[in-house]
Amino acid sequence: MNIVYPEIAFDGELVPLRLEMVDSIALHDSEQAEGDVYDVDQWFKRRGYSGIGYNYFIHSDGTVIEGRGLNTGDAVKYHDGHVLSVAFQGNFTHSLSMPAAQYRSGVRLIQYLMNHIPTITMVDGHSHWAGTDCPGRYFPLGEMIADSTTKTKS
Ligand SMILES: [Zn+2]
Repeated sequence: MNIVYPEIAFDGELVPLRLEMVDSIALHDSEQAEGDVYDVDQWFKRRGYSGIGYNYFIHSDGTVIEGRGLNTGDAVKYHDGHVLSVAFQGNFTHSLSMPAAQYRSGVRLIQYLMNHIPTITMVDGHSHWAGTDCPGRYFPLGEMIADSTTKTKS
């Protein structure tokens, strides 16, 4: 899995996840069509977070970028200790706009994380855990979950 490590300076120390506690992956959209990982990091910092709250961020071109990595995220309130957050650049509220490369990277990253952390048994949208419409209604949620959790790994 090719993961890009950006130059992000978090405010304060990140807390390593206890991987044996991690049982789920939450999928998000960034709600910004253009913003890259640095813009999203600034968005979080402006709101008082120590930095980007997602564990991983996938750009529209399919590039997989580490956010908090395997440290505790800050994207699914009350659940960040057992839920990994993967966010997709884009706004999927009004139209289906996920490029094929971004979709494929999402499936690959989910499969990679599930192989790496065998306690993960569930993948769902952020809205499963919280009152939010994230990811947007046109995010290919069901399709991505089905493609990434089938027994046959691509
Ligand atoms: Zn979200």
